[in-house]
Amino acid sequence: MILNNLKKVKTLLPKNVTLVAVSKTKSVEEIKEAYNEGQRVFGENRVQEMVEKYEVLPKDIQWHMIGHLQRNKVKYMASFVSLIQGVSSLKALKEIDKQAKRHNRVINCLLQAKIAGEETKFGLSFQEIEQIIASEELKKLSNVNIIGLMGMATFTNNKTQLTEEFSSLKKLFDKLNTKGKNLSVLSMGMSGDYSIAIKCGSNMVRMGSAVFGERNYAG
Ligand SMILES: *Cc1c(COP(=O)(O)O)cnc(C)c1O
Repeated sequence: MILNNLKKVKTLLPKNVTLVAVSKTKSVEEIKEAYNEGQRVFGENRVQEMVEKYEVLPKDIQWHMIGHLQRNKVKYMASFVSLIQGVSSLKALKEIDKQAKRHNRVINCLLQAKIAGEETKFGLSFQEIEQIIASEELKKLSNVNIIGLMGMATFTNNKTQLTEEFSSLKKLFDKLNTKGKNLSVLSMGMSGDYSIAIKCGSNMVRMGSAVFGERNYAG
């Protein structure tokens, strides 16, 4: 089942779009199935769960933290996490920098933008993102590298609204790059809205249910 889903998803994605297989709540066995099919990038939204899976699974997996970040848990994943997608404060960046230093590595991060109208979604305003990226404080954080932006659209079928939300983030992404910021990753799109996100310029999609089937409980 997973293999067929994964193959299908891969045929739907343009070559330049990275698939993050969102494996939260899924078992090690299920992840192995996807791994054996060649998938190497997996996303989790709870640090504890990601650490447990990291410990028993092949070490060439790239683990992305996609959930809302709890600062006190950065230390548990700092030795191995490949990309932290949901960074939404300078405070969090400082903690990531501190923990990355302890492991002598640079941790790649995405700043999470609030593009949805819903109050429940975390993230920075575009203005806050521009401020952080231009800040003197960020320059001092030599062990974090902001390589792009991430956004979650409103949970809706309204294509016009989704297009507006995704396009707004693409615009910010382009604007920052025009200013010489060198961002490479624009992470937008999930199982329900990835095709619109890609049309709007996404080059990284985070897909769970389309790859692994529906989750039993909300992640
Ligand atoms: C769970 C989750 C996804 C994947 O959702 P699906 O609808 O299953 O594809 C993507 N991004 C984040 C941040 C998530 O928490």
